Amino acid sequence: MEDINETPESPRLESTESITEFNLSRLEIVGETEIAGFERSGLLTNEQVAEHLRENIPPTHLEGCPSLEYAPNHSLFTFSHETLAFFLPASREIKVASGERFRQDESMVESITHEIGHNEHLTVEQRSPHLAQEWENLYKKSGGNCISDYARTDVHEDFAESYRWYIHHPEDLRFRFPEKYEFMRQHVFASREYVSAGPTKNYGPSSH
Ligand SMILES: [Zn+2]
Repeated sequence: MEDINETPESPRLESTESITEFNLSRLEIVGETEIAGFERSGLLTNEQVAEHLRENIPPTHLEGCPSLEYAPNHSLFTFSHETLAFFLPASREIKVASGERFRQDESMVESITHEIGHNEHLTVEQRSPHLAQEWENLYKKSGGNCISDYARTDVHEDFAESYRWYIHHPEDLRFRFPEKYEFMRQHVFASREYVSAGPTKNYGPSSH
């Protein structure tokens, strides 16, 4: 019983499993957005991500976003160990980090919603600069008092976090930041409103 440790050459089981799961996973398309790789996350399937988008996200909020991908090996995640997901403004792609990073107190679904919030914010900035300015005024007026610690980072994170709260914890947003809630309701969600699914968690500075 001397060779109890694996030799470095022996293939790691999870790699084998990932390949199999990837082959079995069904690619999902919502609007023009391809959803890929989530079977490997151990938390969500592509189908579940697609369901979330179809049920909760207004279709226009995905405009221009070519892909929403579980990409734990992306260099940005190697570079930043805290990052859970990110939105690339130039290409409008969304990448999600390893399922391992989500197992403490963060929700992968809510992180995805946050990143879609960035996509929608970019659309607002490009098409309705006056509305983008109105949001910036609300952000400045709040003087660092935002829906989450991470939302304080800047006007973009405040938008993405408020967007996430509007969908997942609407009562909390409406109660604490009625003006921001109203902005989302009127200008972003075309009067569509949501019912909170569960208790609000406090999230650390982890999405981008
Ligand atoms: Zn963000």
